[in-house]
Parts: sequence; C-alpha cells; structure tokens
Amino acid sequence: MKYDYDSIFKLPFTERIYNKEPYLKELKATVLFVENNVAVFDKTIFYAESGGQVSDTGKIITSDDKIANVTDVQHKFGSKLSIKRTDVDVPYIDVETRVVHFFSSEIDFSIGDVVTMNIEWNRRYSIMKHHTLAHFLFYAFNRFFDEENESVSVKGCFIDENKASFSLNKKISIEGWETIKGYALEKINSDKEVIIEPEEKTDTIFYWRYDDIIIPCGGTHIEKLNELDGNSIFFHKKNSGKDRSRIYISSNNIFMLNGL
Ligand SMILES: [Zn+2]
Repeated sequence: MKYDYDSIFKLPFTERIYNKEPYLKELKATVLFVENNVAVFDKTIFYAESGGQVSDTGKIITSDDKIANVTDVQHKFGSKLSIKRTDVDVPYIDVETRVVHFFSSEIDFSIGDVVTMNIEWNRRYSIMKHHTLAHFLFYAFNRFFDEENESVSVKGCFIDENKASFSLNKKISIEGWETIKGYALEKINSDKEVIIEPEEKTDTIFYWRYDDIIIPCGGTHIEKLNELDGNSIFFHKKNSGKDRSRIYISSNNIFMLNGL
C-alpha cells in the first residue's frame, strides 16, 4: 500500500460525519486524493480505526456505477489536543486528521469526482451495540475495583461486530466477576437515557453520559438501550499470567462460545 504521504498531508482535514450522525448509512462525498488502492475524501461516514474500535468496511460507488470495496480506514496526520475537565479525565486526542480509505484493489476515481459512500450497515450497527456495551463493562470493573480500593488499568481495548473486550492488569476472582457482571446488567437494565454532550473545542470527541456514567469518546454508539436485548448479553473472563485478565461482553452467544 504505497502512496504519497506529502500530498495527503497538504489536504484539508476530513470532516467526520459519523460522529454527528452515527446512523447515516449513505453519503455523497468528493474525492480529494487517489493513488493505487488509497483515497481521501472531503468528508466520510466510514469510521477510522481508533479507541479500540475497528474501522468500517463498505463500498464507494462512482457516478458511472463503478464500485470499489473499502477494506480499511485509518487516521493520518492531525494534531494532539489536550482537554482538562474536573469531572472526568480526558486522554490526549488526535484531531483534524486526514481519514485515509484503503480498497481491496486499485481504484479508478478522479480528483473532484462526487461519489456515494455506503457503509456495511449490519456490521457497523453491531459494532455500535458492542461499543455501547463496552462502556457498561468499563463502568462495572472500575466500580468494582474502586470499592475494593484497588487501582486497575486497561492494557488494551478491542471492539468489533462480535464483542467488546478489555485487557486489565489485574486478575478477577469468580465472585468478583459475578459482582462486575451484576453492576453492568443493573445499569443496562435501568433504562436511562443516553446523552451525547458535545466538547466545545472539537467534534472529534464528545461525552457519552448515562445516569452517573460519563465517558469521553469518539466512537459510534446506539442511541437507545432498548436497541439491545438486555436478556441476551453474554460475558466471559479469562485470567492470564499472575496479574492479568481479559474480559468480554457480547450480544452474540454463539461467538462467545466458539470464537474466543
Ligand atoms: Zn464510546
């Protein structure tokens, strides 16, 4: 995947439409850069991999009906922004990036073409559910370790269409895991409203709020918790080494049984 980094650097940053409209499945955009199997547009609904959430896949269709398959989407360049809040820690974030789309084969667009973007919606919708579930699991293990007066840190986070998972620097006992699952389910089933509070300095992140939970985030989420089936949420835990664990939450039991 060779392409001209300098040309991409000189482009204006890409408008991230998925942050404002996560349910948008189709969008017209203008081609700003194209080379081999790589393209950049003025705006995009394709989520670029970040914060542990995988990138979207889908199609781009030209005005003369040529179809190209998007297989990967990545942020390039941009700058770091630091935000200070008293109620929540906000990590350094990458803002004003160029969103680079990678295709399954060489593409035949021209600069200035107006194309139609089409994300693979079923996959994205499933990712949105698992991203939302990740917030509840995050809340639950932090609450548990807080109450135990222990500090815990996340060594990795991964969210895709099948599951959300965290690697932690702590082992979790069988009883502890039951408590964590209970905290997550109690919140999910409490049927509160999801509130997206904008960040004034950037639209790259916003604050995902639910009851007393507040999480700075730039991912894609479902709007209402009744889009989840509270009776069909599955958990899994694996301890590894002497002080590590990996914990999972999913709406897909078949995956949880077979896919880990
Ligand atoms: Zn989020």
